[in-house]
This record gives sequence, C-alpha cells and structure tokens, in this order.
Amino acid sequence: MGSESYYDVLGVPRNATETDIKKAYRNLAKKYHPDVCKEPGAEEKFKSINEAYAVLSDESRRRQYDQLGHENFTNASKGSYGGGPGGAGFNADFSGFGDIFDSFFGGGGRRSGPSQGSDLLMRIQITLGDAVFGVQREIEVLHTEQCPDCDGTGSSTKKMATCPKCGGTGQIKQIRDSIFGQMMTASPCQNCGGRGKVPESVCRNCTGTGRTRVRRKVTVHVPPGIESRMRLRMEGYGEAGDYGAPNGDLYIEVLIMPNQRFDREDDNLVTQYEITPAQAALGCEVEIETLDKKKVALKVPAGISYGTRLRIPGEGIRRRGNFGSLMVRIIIATPKKLSSAERELYEKLLATEENAPREKEQKRSASDSDAPKDEKKKKRGIFK
Ligand SMILES: [Zn+2]
Ligand SMILES: [Zn+2]
Repeated sequence: MGSESYYDVLGVPRNATETDIKKAYRNLAKKYHPDVCKEPGAEEKFKSINEAYAVLSDESRRRQYDQLGHENFTNASKGSYGGGPGGAGFNADFSGFGDIFDSFFGGGGRRSGPSQGSDLLMRIQITLGDAVFGVQREIEVLHTEQCPDCDGTGSSTKKMATCPKCGGTGQIKQIRDSIFGQMMTASPCQNCGGRGKVPESVCRNCTGTGRTRVRRKVTVHVPPGIESRMRLRMEGYGEAGDYGAPNGDLYIEVLIMPNQRFDREDDNLVTQYEITPAQAALGCEVEIETLDKKKVALKVPAGISYGTRLRIPGEGIRRRGNFGSLMVRIIIATPKKLSSAERELYEKLLATEENAPREKEQKRSASDSDAPKDEKKKKRGIFK
C-alpha cells in the first residue's frame, strides 16, 4: 500500500467529522468497487480506501494514527508475532476489511480463494559495529508450516470432500443491518472456512488445519550500513498460507544499541577526544581508535577551539561502496590538579596574558570577517 495519508486517500481534511469520513468513504467505495470499476489499479485503490476508512472511522485508532503519523502507524500494524523467547506480542488488526466490504456490497465479488499466510515481525538488537560492518545472526522463529503428514490439505487421505454446511459454495447467506440499511449478505462458511471443501478424513497431526507450529532456526544477513528500526523482509518465512496460497513474510526489525564511544549521524560516526589547553594552543598529533579498533593518527592544529570537529575520512558507515567519515570532536580539558611546576607556568602565562588585554578583547568579539587572514585560511583548510 502507498505512503499516501489516510486523509488523502479519502480526500478529506485532517479535521473531517465522522459524517464527512463516512460520506467520502461511501462515494469512493462505490466508485472503485472492483466489480464496477475496470480501471487498472482499482482493486489496490479499493483496498486503500477500506484501510483508510477502517482506521479513520474508529475514534481511538484515528487518534493513534494522528499521533504516530502515517508511516509509523502502518508499520506498527503490519505482521503479527505470537511470542516465543524474547518476542514481544504484536498483532495485526487489519483483518476487518471484509466486514465493511460485505455489509455494503452483499459480499458479491469477494475473492473467496485461499488466503495468504500472515506476516510475522521479530526484533533483533545489534551493536553499532554490526550496523557498520554488517552481521549474520541466527534467530529462532516460531511459525506455522504446511503439515508434512497431509501436505497441507488437512486430510489424511490428502483428498477433500464437499462441505455439507454450505454445499460447496463456501458462503452462508443472511440478512444483515449495515450503515447502508438492511442488506442481503453472504459471509464465509465457518465450517469450511470459505473453501467449500472439508478434509475427507481429518489429519491427526494437524487436526485438519493443514498447518503445524514449528520452531525454526533462520539466518539473517544484516547488511552493512543498516539504520536503526529498518526492517529486513524474509519472503515466505511468515505463517503458512491456506492450502495453495503463499506463506506470509517474516520481517526483522533491527534495533541498534547505543555505543559508549560513538554516535551515528547519517553516514558519519562521531566520537570525542580530550586534549590539554597546551595541546590546544600549540597543536599536537593524537591517536584515535576507530570503531573496528584501528589506530589512526590525527593532527590537531594549533589554536583549535573547544568542540571543533576534525574529520577522518573513510572511517564512518560503509554503505554500498560509500564510506562516511569519523568526526572527532575535540574537548579541551582544563587540568583539575596542577603540579607545582605546572602551576608556576600557568601563573607566568596568566601574567603574560594580563599584559596584553587588547588581544583578549579582540578574541571575544572576533567574527569570521575580521579574524586575521591566516586564521581564516586555517578554518577553511583544516576544519570541516
Ligand atoms: Zn495434517
Ligand atoms: Zn462450507
């Protein structure tokens, strides 16, 4: 489904009333109903309209949607994960579209074929190093698969018989009240799940469902350069579909744990390094340890100010052949304890500074434009 907001889908303003929303939905649903509208993409559009209405017509879900924003809301609603070790409960609730649809159109035109398996969502935590360099993780997935005894048919003979309750149509007709008045509706037969067929002889292993619950080890390849909360999709690793329908997908949401020494800013890594006031005034060369524990020499220019970032190219995030930089934020640490020799030197220094108050004054008000020429050059050349 697209990333268009639900309000856009229904063509209503954000402050639309319940009545406005219902009206807009009714008009659009009539227009794009797959039986009526033969435009390409009408079915997709129809699905979007129903999805939008399901959320915006429900007061609490609409509030949640407004708070989270479209992307977060729709992401959070995908997939369902039934638990297991370390798994958070997570349930999809977009399953109700059929009802809205049926009450309006009397169930005509609904595809009653086997439905695809549900998607699953799992979360894994990785270190910042794993995110930068990529990692392989083995995870345990608890999902349903086709029953091996009956090949997913639910029947020990692997043969099906006509459902006695619906006579093979898969539908039960009834009169229902709907927002559009009383209507003749058809709902899927409970006995056969809308398939019109039931197992000839119920498979003992899966009690006729055609599915069994299995724990599987799955290897996840986390690509280098991944960002926190990105989702990896593993096609077909979700829940088993109905007999003859594809499996759902498994989504792995990757969470990057914070690192003590490095922060991430887009494709750059940021760290900080402490130098002394003397090193700051005179310049120095220091050794920086990169995320993969490599030592890199960094030249700190004389006269550097607190907080200046120096760039080490190529030591940031690696993504599709591009290398970000490692940014080193220079912290000038004022010594808390001085030896007597140091104290003497600082006192001398202070006395010298007091004899040159003009320079001090200038420093405070100096802007880029009236800074000395070589100072300006330094800023452009070395600092970035
Ligand atoms: Zn079975
Ligand atoms: Zn039936």
